[in-house]
Amino acid sequence: MHKFGGASLADSAAIRRAVAIIQGHARESTVVVVSAMAGVTDALLAVAHQAVGGDERAVAGLISQLRTRHAEAAEALLPAGSSRTGTLDHITHIFNELELVCARLRQLRELAPRSNDLVLSQGERLSAQLIAAVLETSGTKSQYVDALEVVRTDDAFGHASPDFTLTDDAAHRILEPMIGQGVVPVVPGFFGASPNGEVATLGRGGSDLTATLLARALRARRVSLWKDVPGLLTADPRVVPDARVISQLHAREAAELAYYGAKVLHPRALIPLAGRNIPIYVRPFDDPDSPGTEVSEQVAPGRFPVKALTAAGGQALITVTGNGMLGVPGIAARTFAALHSRRISVSLISQASSEHSICFSVPEAFTSEARESLLEEFQEEISRSEIDGVEVNTDMATLAVVGLGMHGTPGVAAGVFGALAAGDLNVVAIAQGSSELNISVVVAAADAPEAQRRIHAAFQLSRIAGGSVVRPERMEIVLLGFGHIGQALSSLLSRVRRPALSLRVAAVIDRSGFVFDPEGISASRLSRLASQKRSGHPLAELPKGQASSAIEALSHIGGYALTRPVLVDLTADDTTAVLEQALTHGMDLVLANKRPLADKHAVSDGLWQTARARGRRILHEATVGAGLPIIDTYHKLVESGDRVERIEGLLSGTLGYVLSEVSDGAPFSQAVRSAMRKGYTEPDPRDDLSGMDVARKALILARLLGYQGELEETSVESLVPRWARDLSLEVFVSRLQELDSEWQERVNEAKSQGAVLRYVASATASRIAVGVQAVPASSSLATIKGSDNQLVFTTERYNANPLVITGPGAGAEVTAAGVLNDIMRLAGA
Ligand code: ADP
Ligand code: ASP
Ligand code: MG
Repeated sequence: MHKFGGASLADSAAIRRAVAIIQGHARESTVVVVSAMAGVTDALLAVAHQAVGGDERAVAGLISQLRTRHAEAAEALLPAGSSRTGTLDHITHIFNELELVCARLRQLRELAPRSNDLVLSQGERLSAQLIAAVLETSGTKSQYVDALEVVRTDDAFGHASPDFTLTDDAAHRILEPMIGQGVVPVVPGFFGASPNGEVATLGRGGSDLTATLLARALRARRVSLWKDVPGLLTADPRVVPDARVISQLHAREAAELAYYGAKVLHPRALIPLAGRNIPIYVRPFDDPDSPGTEVSEQVAPGRFPVKALTAAGGQALITVTGNGMLGVPGIAARTFAALHSRRISVSLISQASSEHSICFSVPEAFTSEARESLLEEFQEEISRSEIDGVEVNTDMATLAVVGLGMHGTPGVAAGVFGALAAGDLNVVAIAQGSSELNISVVVAAADAPEAQRRIHAAFQLSRIAGGSVVRPERMEIVLLGFGHIGQALSSLLSRVRRPALSLRVAAVIDRSGFVFDPEGISASRLSRLASQKRSGHPLAELPKGQASSAIEALSHIGGYALTRPVLVDLTADDTTAVLEQALTHGMDLVLANKRPLADKHAVSDGLWQTARARGRRILHEATVGAGLPIIDTYHKLVESGDRVERIEGLLSGTLGYVLSEVSDGAPFSQAVRSAMRKGYTEPDPRDDLSGMDVARKALILARLLGYQGELEETSVESLVPRWARDLSLEVFVSRLQELDSEWQERVNEAKSQGAVLRYVASATASRIAVGVQAVPASSSLATIKGSDNQLVFTTERYNANPLVITGPGAGAEVTAAGVLNDIMRLAGA
């Protein structure tokens, strides 16, 4: 059973994709249920209202727009011929009928629910006929089946309930023979036939219910609900931006979410499948290979008490109070019976233990009806002052925090209230179902978005698709780049000993592709991958390796519900697009790669903004000074109220090594060659000698201080003369001697002034300078030898006597150590 939601059916291209998805499953018996094309139901609702309002022009305008939209889709999707003509005829027919209905509504001046339902049902009929025709013309036997024939309901127009027995019978009788002949029935969702055979809709979002109803009748193997989200998320992504996909959830949890307003599923969609063992998959229309969310009767192993939360706005809280209620049996029962008789559904009930009051919430539209029914019911008690009255609070929202694991887990309610209290959000009423599957609170509607974000954060639902009140212990790492640093990092990771923390590498990505294992790649397998890589095999060629771009790799990996995922960028490439994508998949970032942060201001700023908007973190200690705590020191100074004015020093292990060797008398060529041998340089030493690497680091530091400029504006002294820039690497290395005498002279000249040469970078909020300086032989910079770095912080507090950090600033091991530190920081360890 496949259901395509309205949001997925935006235009002809989307319909083509839906058809491709259906045909991709053609080997199985398939039934298709469709919603109206995106926005059509709302437009039809507007048509109906304009019609009763008497606005003929508006009605004609809306109808003509809808007609054009459907006709254009049909023309784009169907080749000229009888099928196209037939479909266009159907479309014309439906709109002619719609015009007739509207003409009648104009005269009646009243929109009865049954007329409204008739108008609304046309959206689904249009899209279903179109899809059936496209399937048929593209080689899949298919037939449109009107929902009046197969879905039976009661006569509660606008929010009808299905009759299971009648629907089971009709669906059997009509659909099964078709399926038996290999025909794919396409059924419009959202409505069925009332006992009189009239159109009755199942309530907004009702196509989900049509799909589960028919799946039940036909004993489908599974139901796929194709939607515009990656699956069922921990919260509504429009409200909580860092909501995450939940890979599996129990039908009762999903039912609870749907019932309490999660827009993603019709509130009653799960009822037909109760006890039927038919799993539902909420799947992303945009990414049909991704697994989405499984909703089934399985209890997923895991110890996360909270899975998701939802809010239903537009609620009114009604309170019945009175001293006379105390100990009087039946008041609650009568209250709900009174509401039930008017078919008002109550979403939350809480009764004070004193039995002094009962309070419950109902959809706002039913407020006055609910109030009247209660005043009527308790007329006598009120006249005897046993009941004070019926109090109504509108503009409320009910929040439901849901998870089977709450049962028996202490502290969940406290977690919810703590989160709300921390935000100064007032809780108006509370209820916990006896199932302990759900804690509901009523808050002012205006507070609901903030309340959801706070609860989501308190249970760390963004970090672990699941949720936990205790600190989660697992963290999954995606390594982008698997060269020296990546390999050094994997071996460091395997040595981390923290009982409360397990760091796993879930994926490694290189230029050729990736290796991913949702169970984690073991340390021994990582080291095997590393040695195979060193012997020249890219990841795509290794066992379980898949060829892909980094972007593709990430979209594959992002589809899995990883636990607190971190993307670690160890490349030296332009990876901004990949990083942006990682952030949108809910990953935190750890960078050793300088390029993204030293890119155009707008680009690097964009990255920080995305991270902020999604509640993700970016740590990048290893971009400057490898493992030395440079960025960390900066933040600590600022957090403690200091103001950093300037950061300067020796930022390149490579240039530091080369210039200190040269100052000690070695020829330049020899110094460069031995730096290469020791692994202090990039593969092409010119990348270091050009000074660009230092300039990038200086830019990253300057941007911390508020510098707004670009890399191009930085004055950088290159140690690679113009003539050497375009040579091949080999030729360049072989001609290095030509630079020796010039360097000899520079060294001697400095020496004569009691100075040595150092490659110095300096960064302030307004200026960056990078180049060779002759520094006094007695200065602290002169004492730095080899590949060590030294950074000098001049701040408000450390002024006359600046703060100096010195240590190894290059090499895979120390860089990996800096990265590991960031990972541990993210883990909160
Ligand atoms: P359909 O196209 O099948 O009718 P809906 O539009 O009814 O799909 O449902 C999908 C929408 O539900 C998403 O666009 C999303 O904004 C919203 N939504 C609300 N809560 C959730 C949640 N917990 N998980 C996923 N989506 C949610
Ligand atoms: N088209 C209907 C609606 O917008 C039904 C559905 O989409 O499920 O509510
Ligand atoms: Mg829907």
